[in-house]
Amino acid sequence: MGEGKRLCVRGERLLKILESSVEYRPEEYVVHVASDNPFLTLVGIILSQNTTDKNAIAALKRFREEVGDTPEKVLEKGYEAVARAIRTSGSYRRKAEAIVELARRLVARGGVSYLKTASPSELREFLSSIKGIGRKTVDVFLSFTGKEKVFPVDTHARRIAYRWGLTSSPKARYEEVSKALAEHFGENVDYERAHKLIIAFGRKYCRARWPRCEECPLRNCCPKRLEE
Ligand code: SF4
Repeated sequence: MGEGKRLCVRGERLLKILESSVEYRPEEYVVHVASDNPFLTLVGIILSQNTTDKNAIAALKRFREEVGDTPEKVLEKGYEAVARAIRTSGSYRRKAEAIVELARRLVARGGVSYLKTASPSELREFLSSIKGIGRKTVDVFLSFTGKEKVFPVDTHARRIAYRWGLTSSPKARYEEVSKALAEHFGENVDYERAHKLIIAFGRKYCRARWPRCEECPLRNCCPKRLEE
């Protein structure tokens, strides 16, 4: 592969190829589980840090049953109850601290309605200042809720952007990967949809280990930069 070679298809055409090659099932993504409640959506995104959506969905279900669905209920039940409910999601103490702190600050701002009424820049600042809520969590939330057009980067997006030749290293900075994917898909594409399709594509074809290049619909135009 020559230096600088990139996936030869881009934009809406690339989105269409992804759409026709993977099945997108909303119920497999934690953000869709409680999409009518922005607080639970955020809790779900926090729970999905460093674990699978499947684990995060199970933990969110238990959280909802044992703790509740509002920041006020989180403060009423307390840290230990939160930690117990989300135990299966991994790093649960750190995640519980982030959820309780999020609840505390939301209640101080009038509750869950703040997540609906605050401007995207206010929300970005608010969420980023909470320990345990990083750039990816903020981007996934702002993108999913349609507050901001941004390309979130998770482990699939990072790996695939590199294999497609869009980034210089599999460990490229978050901002570099997000910008490269946004540019490759172009402004007309819904980044939220593209991101979800990339996850599904990464699960089916462009897997971390043993990617299925022989069956991949992009095999004839992919630089196949496999880092393993
Ligand atoms: S599975 Fe192989 S051919 Fe397909 S996008 Fe990934 S690296 Fe490229």
